[in-house]
Amino acid sequence: MKIKNDKNCSWINDLNPRSNIKTLNSNELCDWLIVGAGYTGLSAARKLAQLQPNKNIILVDAQLAGEGASSRNSGYLVDTTLNDGFTSNKDIENYKKKTNIYDLGIKTVKKFIKEYQVSCDWNETGKYFASSKIVDEKLLINFSKTLTRLGFQNNFFYNKELTKRLGTTFYNVGLYTKGGILLHPGKLVRSMIDVLPSNVLLFENSYLKSWQKIKNSILCNFKNGKITANKIIFATNGFLKTLGIKKNYNFPLTLTASMTRKLSDKEFQSIGKPKEWGVLPVRPMGATIRMTKDRRILIRNTAEVHNPFSMSQFDLDKRSINQRIGIKKRFPQLPEDIIQSSWSGIVSRSRNSSQIFEKIDENIFVAGCYNGSGIGVGTLFGEQIAIKASEQHTKEIEIIESRNKPNWLPPQPLLNLAIQSRLIYERIRAKSEI
Ligand SMILES: Cc1cc2nc3c(=O)[nH]c(=O)nc-3n(C[C@H](O)[C@H](O)[C@H](O)COP(=O)(O)OP(=O)(O)OC[C@H]3O[C@@H](n4cnc5c(N)ncnc54)[C@H](O)[C@@H]3O)c2cc1C
Repeated sequence: MKIKNDKNCSWINDLNPRSNIKTLNSNELCDWLIVGAGYTGLSAARKLAQLQPNKNIILVDAQLAGEGASSRNSGYLVDTTLNDGFTSNKDIENYKKKTNIYDLGIKTVKKFIKEYQVSCDWNETGKYFASSKIVDEKLLINFSKTLTRLGFQNNFFYNKELTKRLGTTFYNVGLYTKGGILLHPGKLVRSMIDVLPSNVLLFENSYLKSWQKIKNSILCNFKNGKITANKIIFATNGFLKTLGIKKNYNFPLTLTASMTRKLSDKEFQSIGKPKEWGVLPVRPMGATIRMTKDRRILIRNTAEVHNPFSMSQFDLDKRSINQRIGIKKRFPQLPEDIIQSSWSGIVSRSRNSSQIFEKIDENIFVAGCYNGSGIGVGTLFGEQIAIKASEQHTKEIEIIESRNKPNWLPPQPLLNLAIQSRLIYERIRAKSEI
């Protein structure tokens, strides 16, 4: 198997291509192997190298480092989310635990970008949970009560004010939450690659085919080589299941997104020159849509069960047409052919929206399954799993470990049937918001 990505993601194309790419073509021994070089694996490698400077650490990725979901997301570093079952006060304690983790995630990314002077278009602009359907006000009122109880500043806006702020008349009700950051995901993950310490050896385009624990070592087979490691951290997120890890607790979903070219002065004027903003849907399958600071519009309006290893150009084009319609609905004055790029990416989900952070066996650790909110949580979990694996303890680990653990999932084909029917149901409910 090979992970085959489409080559057309604007966030990646914004960056200079990297050189000096090493691929595994030999047999290696190491103290630590980290599999997966997205936010999680890169953060784990950075932290582990700091904590254990005399150990040799190998980090591998099946594709170019950082070019999985970590470069392909919408760039919302969230403090709160709505679409994960916490819409009433009933579950407030669990919701609080969840937001505590988001908060730690934001702090971890903030500390990282300060320490390494990272420029990733960081903007503490807050975000909107918005809908074209005024009936969704009910859901938002409930959510607003929960947020207020937990001390998150939030305000309601309606069509006229939303039009001014967002440049579209589409939305009729929106709850603005002050926390949350918009950023350039590709720049953030690239900076994590750039600052990898010298005791981390990175092999890219090196797909881990199989692994097994033999006595005290972990033997890992790649196409052109083997790595024997004393200890291992799995950070493959949407691909945990394909490696047989926590396979009854997480499943992959494929998301697709599109980005327009930069709007011209005239086009930008026609939508009222709004400042950078981000909208999250009130209904789970509605569109995430964002105006970047350099006047591009990003839209993500799919989530589906699909082969996580690749998406054909034909399939991607179909989804891109859907996204063109989503943009047209909101910005009818913009030209039809304004989309510059479309791409897919893989996320990992659990049944109860909880994450995985565990020692699964002696010397084997795993962090992942962020349910679509992995920028902050992935960076946090990467650092903290390295600390846990180094047998140290932090208050962050205590907070992470006090969360609900992911619930058990039924086996296939029941699982895919259940997910697909749920997605179809949610898609119908969100029809107007796509
Ligand atoms: C379209 C889209 C929009 C999103 N929007 C947001 C958002 O706005 N905010 C947010 O917080 N999150 C968002 N997410 C989710 C976020 O991108 C992920 O949660 C995050 O990137 C997870 O980071 P990670 O390092 O754990 O995993 P990844 O970035 O997926 O990295 C895992 C790596 O493991 C590698 N790998 C897998 N299998 C193997 C193997 N067998 N051998 C070697 N390497 C392997 C992959 O190549 C990959 O590079 C979005 C995701 C997508 C796709």
